[in-house]
Amino acid sequence: MSVGTDNLRAWAEVNLARLERNLAHIRAALPPHLRYVAVVKADAYGHGLAAVAARLMRAGADVFALANLDEAAALREVGLGWPVLILSAILPGERARVPALDVMPTLSSVDEANAFADLAARRGRKIRVHLKVDTGMGRLGIWHTQFEELRSAVAAAPGLELAGVFTHFSSAGSNDEVTETQRRRFLKAVQPVARPGLLIHADNSAGIGSFPEGGPFNGVRIGLLQFGVRPAGGTFLDRVHVEPVLSLHARVGLVKNLPAGTRVSYDGTFKLRRPSRIAVLCAGYADGLPTRLSNRGQVLIAGRRCPIIGRVTMDQTLLDVTDLPEAPQPGERATLIGEDGGQVLTVNDFARAADQVAWEVFCTVSKRVRRVYTRDSAT
Ligand SMILES: *Cc1c(COP(=O)(O)O)cnc(C)c1O
Repeated sequence: MSVGTDNLRAWAEVNLARLERNLAHIRAALPPHLRYVAVVKADAYGHGLAAVAARLMRAGADVFALANLDEAAALREVGLGWPVLILSAILPGERARVPALDVMPTLSSVDEANAFADLAARRGRKIRVHLKVDTGMGRLGIWHTQFEELRSAVAAAPGLELAGVFTHFSSAGSNDEVTETQRRRFLKAVQPVARPGLLIHADNSAGIGSFPEGGPFNGVRIGLLQFGVRPAGGTFLDRVHVEPVLSLHARVGLVKNLPAGTRVSYDGTFKLRRPSRIAVLCAGYADGLPTRLSNRGQVLIAGRRCPIIGRVTMDQTLLDVTDLPEAPQPGERATLIGEDGGQVLTVNDFARAADQVAWEVFCTVSKRVRRVYTRDSAT
């Protein structure tokens, strides 16, 4: 799988065959009528939008969800015809791009509904919209007790077509009681509008852990899980077989021996307690290794865990490789996320050491890190 990476200093391997299998497994675990909304915001969680979206289109995603209109424009370059939902608020100055890109905005207020109604009237074409209900997240959406105002504003606007209604859970997988309260509030709000053809969706990756049988839900919004990472969640999620899509690597640039007592890295943040062999890794915070990993994180070399010592710097990170049976060589491959020789460092391991959440780990991997794609299903 490392073919073609010999000259890369830091890179991410993205296995698109696994992505496709993950989608199939998630689908198979859910009721068959559910529409799969593939959440591919933030450059498909750092995996690369073009390749990921193309594969998900082939794999049978029904709808794509993105954070903003620039991302939607990039998705339109990948393939035409898929419904696209914009999850974030649209700025007043951006509204004209909504009909131009033929995407569905998320409406959270009567003002937004009126603005899009005017725009639709001026353009003489319908704009399909999703209404968001705030059931307790306190972020986007109209507060659930006021949903009727938004619903009737949209119903009264000939230029707006109601395509979907949704909410977002604040504590899916971590607090079932809060999630159930949100689900109840949402169901009460949408009951009057539920009709065939309307996309009613609430669950993200963690949410499907408590997906209810029956009920009006006919869509799920899947981000993290399709990339093979399980958020904290119920036992249901354990039954969905997913494999990690991304692994993160860097090469050793230099190996050297230093005497005991040497203080290494900026400000001498780490003092060697013994004569040590140090590997200088060709990756730092400019590649997406948070400084929080300083003196905390681990990296795999030759199937062994090597501790990060000293401060993570912009382009380089120091590893203690004294305990490796053989000294690594310059050019040797190291694994920051992924599997090597039977040892595994998961995204969640990385996130724990870095004080991040798994979503953030992916978003932090920078542009400098080349994404290398595996497309076949052999691995
Ligand atoms: C990002 C996002 C999702 C996807 O969440 P995952 O936990 O990654 O599955 C779903 N819904 C909304 C509104 C989001 O912003």
